[in-house]
Amino acid sequence: MVRVRFAPSPTGFLHIGSLRTALYNFLFARHHGGVCILRIEDTDRTRFVEGAIEEQINSLAWAGVTFDEGPHVGGNYGPYVQSERFDLYRTYGMQLVESGHAYYAFDTAEELDAMRVRQQAAGIAPKYDRSSMRNQYTLGEQETQRLLAEAAPHVIRLKVPLTADVRFHDEIRGDVVVAGREIDDQILLKSDGFPTYHLANVVDDHLMEITHVIRAEEWLPSTPKHVLLYEAFGWKAPTFAHVPLMLNPDRTKMSKRHGDVMVRDFAAKGYFPDALVNFVALCGWNPAEDREIYAMQELIDRFTLDRVHRAGAVFDYKKLEWMNAEYLRAKDCAALANALLPSLEAAGYTHREPTYVARVIELLRERVTFLHDITTFGDYLFGDTLAALDQATEASLQGDAALRAALAAFRDGLSDDILADADAFKGLAKASAEAAGLAMGKFMKPLRVVVTHRDVGADLHPTLQLLGAERCKSRLDAFLS
Ligand code: GLU
Repeated sequence: MVRVRFAPSPTGFLHIGSLRTALYNFLFARHHGGVCILRIEDTDRTRFVEGAIEEQINSLAWAGVTFDEGPHVGGNYGPYVQSERFDLYRTYGMQLVESGHAYYAFDTAEELDAMRVRQQAAGIAPKYDRSSMRNQYTLGEQETQRLLAEAAPHVIRLKVPLTADVRFHDEIRGDVVVAGREIDDQILLKSDGFPTYHLANVVDDHLMEITHVIRAEEWLPSTPKHVLLYEAFGWKAPTFAHVPLMLNPDRTKMSKRHGDVMVRDFAAKGYFPDALVNFVALCGWNPAEDREIYAMQELIDRFTLDRVHRAGAVFDYKKLEWMNAEYLRAKDCAALANALLPSLEAAGYTHREPTYVARVIELLRERVTFLHDITTFGDYLFGDTLAALDQATEASLQGDAALRAALAAFRDGLSDDILADADAFKGLAKASAEAAGLAMGKFMKPLRVVVTHRDVGADLHPTLQLLGAERCKSRLDAFLS
């Protein structure tokens, strides 16, 4: 049985890279008919951001990433919260002290700083120096017990075997080998008794029977410590899969400077959750088919770890826009209309009857990226008053006597019956233009501008059809008078 978890820390809102990690866990679990757990890793209270847990959960739900286990909250599962389990980690940490895999250390912050300065001066990588610092080994058992009895501040550190190599297999990175002497004696329990990420993470992955740890590449350097912890506890380690970073187009680590990075920002911009999920899934994973659009179930059916790329994945904002537009074109217009109604109402538009709005969407969606673009792009279809034409355009149109004559003829001939028939509409436009001595080509564009106050839009005939003869005539009248 596959059991995976997404384990965010509440240090901020949900990052797009974290959405991808969550999604890969979710897809992997669903693909194998397994379980996907949400676990909040809030051991570092100094980096806790108020509201972050709720925001992350909301963003995940918005994207359609769901979880299967944990305490029940309002009809949904989870999450497990580490800060509610602190006693557990302490018990396990102390167990390692008893078995000789971890030890007490009493160094002050100043002593540790001085150690780092010494190491820097000597040109060696900073790492806890077990042999020279104040710990259980250098102080001896008696002194250690004395210090503990007087409640001297202390931490518990992992005793890393210095001579052996640590080896593990990563499903994406392949075999990884790290020399023990390069691994820090990681703090497991802090002086306030709180666990560090490493201890809590390993204890929970074990207790929650996690089979596959799928997480961001930035945790790869921590994994040797985790492997040592599993060995120290005598537990079987899960399978690891470290997902490569998401990169800016210039291949630097993805950051705000290049565009949005928080899931809620993408939502606010108007991206559809299924489009964002589709895009994020393909950012670093590739089902090797000649297509780009996949619904969630299709992603689930295809998702395997061996198709996750090893190299960092460039986040292509243009491709995401393209994908959103594809989803906009494929969705049901009635549903899109319902989603658009609140913004039409907020804008104070009068023509917002749902079936009418659906027809407007059908007509305009080929030309925009976001659903809400239609509110502005199609303002002349929703509102009764048009944005004023700029003076130069107005003057040149008004000053064109032939055009005015053609528009007047067109206005007089126009009816809903004519609009209902493409040929009849074309015939009327042609006859009106020619009677005034204008070529068709010189008539249609000004006609559009006069009726919509825009020089681009969907084909003119269906546009005028949507407006209906009455509205078209009143706009022509307003221009001609
Ligand atoms: N709490 C870690 C994070 O914020 C999770 C790392 C892991 O999945 O082990 O990304």
